[in-house]
Amino acid sequence: MGRRIAIFGDVHANLDALEVVLADCREQGVDSYLCTGDVVGYNACPHECLEIVRSLGCPVVKGNHDHYVASTADLSDFNPHAAAVVEWTRSMLDDEELQYLNDLPFTETKMGISLVHSTMDRPENFGYVFDNQQAEANFINQRIPICFHGHTHCPMIYEKQMTGVFRIDPQDFVLRPGRKYFINVGSVGQPRDGDPRATYVIYDAAQRLVSYRRLEYDVAAAQARIRAAGLPERLAERLACGQ
Ligand code: ZN
Repeated sequence: MGRRIAIFGDVHANLDALEVVLADCREQGVDSYLCTGDVVGYNACPHECLEIVRSLGCPVVKGNHDHYVASTADLSDFNPHAAAVVEWTRSMLDDEELQYLNDLPFTETKMGISLVHSTMDRPENFGYVFDNQQAEANFINQRIPICFHGHTHCPMIYEKQMTGVFRIDPQDFVLRPGRKYFINVGSVGQPRDGDPRATYVIYDAAQRLVSYRRLEYDVAAAQARIRAAGLPERLAERLACGQ
């Protein structure tokens, strides 16, 4: 009996997208969950999303938004939209929730799979992996052959072979033995690859099959919540174009 594992992340407080994703997981016969972090930030339902993700009882790694919301760190290196939302999010969560976010680990390994928000190359620095060189730096630090991540909000499969790193566009893909994989699961709550649909991955461990799921959700409802909360208009607009 193989396991069907949902790997999802960058929910970013988007309740409308999260509910659609979890309903799809149930329909798809998912039996375990792994979360690549950034449960909060950008959208208007941090408390609700945190409650739902915690109720899954699954491993969750710490994203940069989780980290900054939970700390009293200076936000001057954030872009102004992000900083405004970090401060708003802090005000929406209670001390116990902030402590939960603060206590999240940077990496986890469960069921033979590693998880990290950004990259195994100094995960606490939250570097971005957009190219093969950045992926190479990850692979030097990735000991388990299969690792899932997020952070860029752009789905992608990086494969490490003897001769180098290869990029495989998001698709149904069977992982080959003897290779290492660093797989970006995209974003549930704020996709940035030009496709506004919520994204996550199902990994069928018996078949070694990675499947990307893309789901329409009620973008207008998520936008209305952003506007009602008084968050920056740009955050509502970007949901519609997936940028
Ligand atoms: Zn993110």
